[in-house]
Amino acid sequence: MKRYEVIVIGGGAAGLMCAATAGQRGRSVAVLDHANKVGKKILMSGGGRCNFTNYDVEPENFLSANPHFCKSALSRYTPWDFIALVSRYNLAWHEKTLGQLFCDNKAKDILNILLAECEAGQVDIRTHCSIESVAKADDGDGFVLATTQGDIACQSLVIATGGLSIPTMGATGFGYDLAKQFGLRITPRHAALVPFTLKGEPLELAQSLAGVALPVRATCNGQAFSEALLFTHKGLSGPATLQISNYWQPGDTLKIDFMPGTDLGQQVRHWQQQGQKSELRTLLSQTLPKRFVSAWLERINLDNKALAQLSNADIDALAQAFNRWPCTPAGTEGYRTAEVTKGGVNTDDVSSKTFEAKHTPGLYLIGEVLDVTGWLGGYNFQWAWASGWCAGQYV
Ligand SMILES: Cc1cc2nc3c(=O)[nH]c(=O)nc-3n(C[C@H](O)[C@H](O)[C@H](O)COP(=O)(O)OP(=O)(O)OC[C@H]3O[C@@H](n4cnc5c(N)ncnc54)[C@H](O)[C@@H]3O)c2cc1C
Repeated sequence: MKRYEVIVIGGGAAGLMCAATAGQRGRSVAVLDHANKVGKKILMSGGGRCNFTNYDVEPENFLSANPHFCKSALSRYTPWDFIALVSRYNLAWHEKTLGQLFCDNKAKDILNILLAECEAGQVDIRTHCSIESVAKADDGDGFVLATTQGDIACQSLVIATGGLSIPTMGATGFGYDLAKQFGLRITPRHAALVPFTLKGEPLELAQSLAGVALPVRATCNGQAFSEALLFTHKGLSGPATLQISNYWQPGDTLKIDFMPGTDLGQQVRHWQQQGQKSELRTLLSQTLPKRFVSAWLERINLDNKALAQLSNADIDALAQAFNRWPCTPAGTEGYRTAEVTKGGVNTDDVSSKTFEAKHTPGLYLIGEVLDVTGWLGGYNFQWAWASGWCAGQYV
């Protein structure tokens, strides 16, 4: 039977980082992935340019039932460590916005760096390799895996199978099932960083505005994000929507401010006092998309009223519509389009230092399979690099 010191199941961001780190420590390492190639999510990330990290990574940028769990790894492997790695390969990159770092060229450059690092650690990468079963070795030291490429044994087994999003890219629930098999608990899982679906009148409105994007401040459950929102044929998307989806529970109402920083009630009263002759629609269209202004004024029956004739009740309705739109999504688009899975393997069952399961020596869990979910903006890859690198020191 083929033996390795370390087997990593899942050749994604976290798995490749862990394998390269362990390999370069001199451990014999294999990565097993059932897909036809490794790193598929890296390739499709950041619109093909991979938002590989963020200048400002703080524990507050992550959600978990245990918000302290991520702190240790994030402080031991920082964005600057990853920047130093990619700089050794002369990767050209840029900051897009809000500290988000992207490749100048293609996401494939990041994958190539990870593969070169794996090669430097003499890691065996086996694709098209499905795992049929995993058992503890008879002598109690390590694990035996029955795979489509035969039985393989290892001392340390790393679960790096990621989350449930984009099943067509190879996502499966296998990592969660394996964790359960060894007695680890799983927190409830939800599609996250995901567009919202609407129904009824708000859906018709969104459909009539499909393709319109504008900067907003979206609030839900005490968390707010100021980024762009995009209306779609199904509902709402865009960075502000994806960000706030992490904090949304079914039935919750979002509050959306389409004019962040402007109190429209005050502004309208100011225009009235000035004796503004322009139409409300014209004034609003100076800062908001015309199609959006028309649809929104029509919706509150103020599309034909002169500015001077607006009553206090009209002004309140305007402020409510433009500054505090209450929107209750019907749901989300689900794992088909979600960027990540919120929830996962309960971090109380895993060491935040070594990433070893507390009650199963030799079993390690890293990356998105854990109940650690980052914001949009390079945080999820930073978690994958940090958890993979830290576990790579111990496996
Ligand atoms: C469209 C999209 C864009 C994204 N863009 C960004 C971005 O720009 N920045 C960012 O920070 N995050 C981004 N993310 C999130 C990021 O891709 C993930 O959080 C990250 O890849 C998680 O790393 P991971 O190694 O834990 O899992 P993954 O990268 O998902 O890797 C898991 C691996 O396990 C393999 N696997 C699964 N099941 C099995 C099994 N049963 N047997 C064997 N192998 C298995 C899979 O084939 C895969 O190779 C994006 C996600 C998506 C879907």
